[in-house]
Parts: sequence; C-alpha cells; structure tokens
Amino acid sequence: MTLRFDGQIAIVTGAGGGLGRAHALALAARGAAVVVNDLGGARDGTGGSATAAEAVVAEIEAMGGQAMAAAGSVTDATAVQAMVDAAMARWGRIDILVNNAGVLRDKSFAKMSIEDFRFVVDVHLMGAAICTKAVWEIMRAQNYGRIVMTTSSSGLYGNFGQANYGAAKMALVGLMQTLAIEGQKNDIRVNCLAPTAHTRMTEDLGAALPLEALGPELVSPGLLHLVSRDAPTRCILGAGAGGFERAYVTLTQGVHITGEDAPEQVAARFDQISDRAGEIVPDMGAAQGMLELTKAKVSLGG
Ligand code: NAD
Repeated sequence: MTLRFDGQIAIVTGAGGGLGRAHALALAARGAAVVVNDLGGARDGTGGSATAAEAVVAEIEAMGGQAMAAAGSVTDATAVQAMVDAAMARWGRIDILVNNAGVLRDKSFAKMSIEDFRFVVDVHLMGAAICTKAVWEIMRAQNYGRIVMTTSSSGLYGNFGQANYGAAKMALVGLMQTLAIEGQKNDIRVNCLAPTAHTRMTEDLGAALPLEALGPELVSPGLLHLVSRDAPTRCILGAGAGGFERAYVTLTQGVHITGEDAPEQVAARFDQISDRAGEIVPDMGAAQGMLELTKAKVSLGG
C-alpha cells in the first residue's frame, strides 16, 4: 500500500537544506502540507535568513504542494509558538513534527568552551523540547501525533570532537523514551532517526562512497515510516546510503551481589554482569529496578 499523508500537516525544522529539505519534499510529494522551518544560518548556528526556508516552500509549491515558511530559531519559544499558531490558523491541525534542526561546533573536549557546549545542547535538545512542547497539547487534543527526534551515531556510540553534539543527540533519545510512554494514550508516537548523509554538516568528512550514494533523500523513506499512521513508537532507526538499522538500549540479566566483599565481587564477576545472554530491551525505566528486586528475592529464597 502506498504511504500517503493527504490532509496531514507536518512541521519540519531545519528544512531549508540537507536532510530537513529532503524530508519536507518527501512528505509534500506524498500529500502532506509542510511548515518549512529554518533559521537560515551558518553550520555553526551563526547568522540567519528567511531565504533557505522560502526556497524550499517554492519548490514544494512548484510541484503542486502546500507549504509555509517559518524562519525563526527552534530555540526561540515565541517564534516557535508563532509558527505553530500560523499552521493552526491555516490548516487547523498538526499531525507530524520532525525535529531536525541542528548545528555543529566540533572540538576535542579539552579545547571546547562551555559556551560552545551549551549552544549545541540548546539547539538540538532545547530546540526539540520547545517545538515538541508547542505541538504537544494540540496532538493530545487530536488524539493523534507523530514526532521524530533526529539523533546521531555520534550520540549513540561517540565520536572524537563531538562531546557537545553527542551529549545533545543522546539526550534526544532520553526525551523520546519518556514522551513515547506519556504520548501512548493519545496515539502520539515518538521515535528517533539516526541519519547518515552527505550534507553541509558532513561535507568535511571524506566520503568512502560517491556523494550521490549518501544523498539525504535516501534517509527520508525511514523518516516517512516513523511519521506514518502505522509508525512504531520508541524506536531508534538508523538510515543512510539505502541502509536501515535499529539501535536498542538494552539491559543484561546481571548478577546479585551483597556483603562485605561486594566491591571485589563486582570486579570478579564483571564478565558475568556484562554477559549479553538473556539481554532485554526494557519498556520503561522501572524494569531495571524490577529485575534487581527479582534477583534479590531469589537470593533470599523468596
Ligand atoms: P544541515 O546543516 O544541512 O541542516 C541543518 C539545518 O538546520 C540547516 O538548514 C540550518 O540552517 C538549520 N538550523 C540550524 N540551527 C537552527 C535553529 N536554531 N533553528 C532552525 N533551524 C536551524 O545538516 P544536516 O546534515 O541536514 O542535519 C540535519 C539533522 O541531522 C541535524 O540534526 C543533524 O545533527 C542530524 N544528523 C546529520 C547527519 C549527517 O550525516 N548529515 C548524521 C547524524 C545526524
């Protein structure tokens, strides 16, 4: 069955170029009306202009779609509220939010200023939280919403020179975990996308493949699934160069240790603690405590 978004309204942040533009065009091509947000600044978040967002709106309109530009920063709660109000005034609902806007200020942690750390966390984490907060009540009232956080392999697994970026990107996984739980009863599904693509953000990294093999449009099919009616929730989807993968936050079965020599036992049994046999994907934070209490009960003969 063809994936369609007719009658649906999507906001895509940072959609003036790169991945956000590809997502906006893909959503519009399949029937969604799209709010194209972009600050239009440089890769490090300095500057700003409405032209990036307006150019993508023109592209969507040229292909017969509906779109609206919003040039504000995702970190500016007033501008974000104005964007949401404008979309509601024109279309009356918001079905999809793609938190995609992002910046880089790479440096080794030794050389990184706290200002650059805070700035990157602010755009990725606070920007996504501010945009999500602005649509949350609307989606709750509609009993429908699809939200994607753009995470990164740099957050999930680390990358030299990206302590600020990695921390912000992994924080978005944490935001997703709780929002997916809280959104469930109103059919708000929240997922993370971990993309790989050749964009201005990654233009300095020599690519092992021809650049067209890393086109951002190869990531958008994964995004479309994550915001579709039949979307999963609480999923981390990797996507790039036509490859699609899932990442999980898992928990090993572990061991039960108490007593005077507990520190020595933790060291002695670290291989057993780390053993991935029987590993689970907890469906909420409380699962860890439950597992620990179960082991304690077993050891007490309960
Ligand atoms: P990009 O630089 O082309 O796109 C980012 C866009 O966000 C830009 O158009 C920029 O103007 C906009 N933006 C920046 N700050 C903003 C703000 N405060 N408010 C509104 N818009 C703002 O880079 P991209 O590669 O397309 O990145 C898109 C997302 O994907 C980012 O969140 C990035 O961290 C993430 N990502 C990209 C890759 C990759 O391989 N390209 C890998 C992992 C994650």
